[in-house]
Amino acid sequence: VSGLTKTRDNIISGMDSIFSGFTKIDEAFYEELEEVLIMGDLGVQATDSILEDLREKVKAMHIKEPSECRQLLIDSIKEQMDIGEAAYEFEDRTSVVMVIGVNGVGKTTTIGKLAGKLRSRHKKVVLAAADTFRAAAGEQLKEWADRAQAELIGGQEGSDPASVIYDAVAAAQARHADVLLCDTAGRLHNKKNLMEELKKMNRIIDREFPDAYRETLVVLDATTGQNALMQAREFNEVADITGIILTKMDGTAKGGIAVAIQAELGIPVKYIGVGETIEDLQKFDADTFVNALFT
Ligand code: GDP
Repeated sequence: VSGLTKTRDNIISGMDSIFSGFTKIDEAFYEELEEVLIMGDLGVQATDSILEDLREKVKAMHIKEPSECRQLLIDSIKEQMDIGEAAYEFEDRTSVVMVIGVNGVGKTTTIGKLAGKLRSRHKKVVLAAADTFRAAAGEQLKEWADRAQAELIGGQEGSDPASVIYDAVAAAQARHADVLLCDTAGRLHNKKNLMEELKKMNRIIDREFPDAYRETLVVLDATTGQNALMQAREFNEVADITGIILTKMDGTAKGGIAVAIQAELGIPVKYIGVGETIEDLQKFDADTFVNALFT
């Protein structure tokens, strides 16, 4: 996994000093380990669960040497992140994907990258510019649509997002598109409005495109660390989130937030953004990720 250097450096230096600095597994060892996991942005709840699990394993297996429990720690983290395999992915079916996220997290860029990824697999993609709230959103998405060779359906600034969705669904059906990606306004400061808006859009898709496989993805900026976790919690209250995309993993030491989000909320992190170009989106796999950060 490339693009995770800063997070890895941060975690590995802490891990190395613990596993070489302690000669026995005692309370001080666990406290130090807790510190490293918290500093790595794994979050309080996930860290507690991981350490509880590790303590049980150490006890049950009568382990005495700190060096012997490094792999156990990694296993515990993976277990905390294990939320079972999703049966389907939108990439493999006729799908409508709602993408939500607050301004600046990298939502437009991510939709462009997703479109590029799907196009490179010869999928037919339609983009809906249903973030009609923000002036530049539509134009910015148009650039990405051109780059990815996807069709864009937009509306006037300030127009009803639901009407854009209606038009986009019609276009997607007329063109026999494989995936319809919908950019939506994610105004978290107005949760009630957001919820109503999402409901309205979902009703239209339910009615007009009943056979489509559906996903709602939340885009979060990894550089904001625990704040990203908070946003994920809040979005989870207003929408049935099926996946998370963490952007800007290349520029942050806070990549451990992926563990916190997946372990605490039970929502899969599906992709990570590792740069600003169309190729800089990687499919997320928890095992590979944890191996990359801790070994
Ligand atoms: P939006 O307001 O959520 O639609 O955010 P944008 O898509 O406009 O992105 C905001 C900024 O973040 C832009 O400068 C993007 O190039 C940048 N960005 C988005 N994703 C990534 C990423 O994975 N890595 C890095 N380094 N920058 C990113």
